[in-house]
Amino acid sequence: MVAQVIDGKAFAAKVRTQVADQVAKLKEENGITPGLAVVLVGEDPASQVYVRSKGKMTVEVGMNSYEHKLDVETSEEDLLALIDKLNNDPAVHGILVQLPLPKHLNEDLVINSIDPAKDVDGFHISNVGLLGTGQKSMVPCTPLGCLMMLRDHHGSISGMDAVIIGRSNIVGKPMAQLLLGDSCTVTIAHSRTKDLPDVVRRADIVVAAVGRPEMVPGDWIKEGATVIDVGINRIERDGKNKLVGDVDYASASENAGAITPVPGGVGPMTIACLLANTVTACCRANGLPEPEGLTA
Ligand code: NAD
Repeated sequence: MVAQVIDGKAFAAKVRTQVADQVAKLKEENGITPGLAVVLVGEDPASQVYVRSKGKMTVEVGMNSYEHKLDVETSEEDLLALIDKLNNDPAVHGILVQLPLPKHLNEDLVINSIDPAKDVDGFHISNVGLLGTGQKSMVPCTPLGCLMMLRDHHGSISGMDAVIIGRSNIVGKPMAQLLLGDSCTVTIAHSRTKDLPDVVRRADIVVAAVGRPEMVPGDWIKEGATVIDVGINRIERDGKNKLVGDVDYASASENAGAITPVPGGVGPMTIACLLANTVTACCRANGLPEPEGLTA
């Protein structure tokens, strides 16, 4: 079997169009422009690239983008004061603090100081609890993007066996909650899992979120399974820099029924879902119906 490619780039463009349509409607019918504030502390080069592209895409869908770039030495007190100001600013519907933060700042404290209703990354402890108990919440962007692609590809994923490799708070655990919410039978595998290849071979859906280049070979993939590769790993091959996932794409696509490529799979969906979450937060803040298909 040669796997169907799940084109995350094209799907993300579709999601951004839906968001742009919703933004235009909010402006026209309600006189509201959704706003996303992004806070970056320090000058980590990768974070700067992410923040720049988030700002650019926010503006492209018609929303207001507020960028706050703070010095690497910024105190916790000053950062918390800025978040408090953004929490109370009615023009700001979403707040994202770019991670990782410099070592002297307590990440949990900072994230939990964001108003949960504006927490478009879905990392606030209240949102984690709401998601875990199947209540309306802000959902972390990367797993939300994975869920959207799975729903789009399969229609229903109810009853399917899903194996997630990786148990991080930002990908693995919320992914498990979302797949449970869609009635999959979910296994979370991790670095201490026994017989990982056998566990993965049972899966109808494999979500790989480890951060190890091409660690999942094709012979771990059940014939016809759907593979969602979250990993983004920079490697050097044949003297060139290359991005690869956690799955060995060439061999996995011989067994899988469908697979996301890296790049061009999960990555573009993450920013699209950030924009979707911002528009959802804006609708909720104004007591308006939520846009369909943009939330879990
Ligand atoms: P993390 O380091 O927080 O978690 C990695 C997880 O992998 C851990 O739970 C660990 O138990 C597990 N693990 C480590 N070695 C393992 C092994 N040998 N076998 C099985 N499990 C093992 O990473 P993360 O933040 O969840 O990110 C994972 C990957 O996804 C990274 O490559 C990251 O760059 C990528 N990522 C991509 C996006 C995106 O937008 N596409 C977003 C977030 C993360």
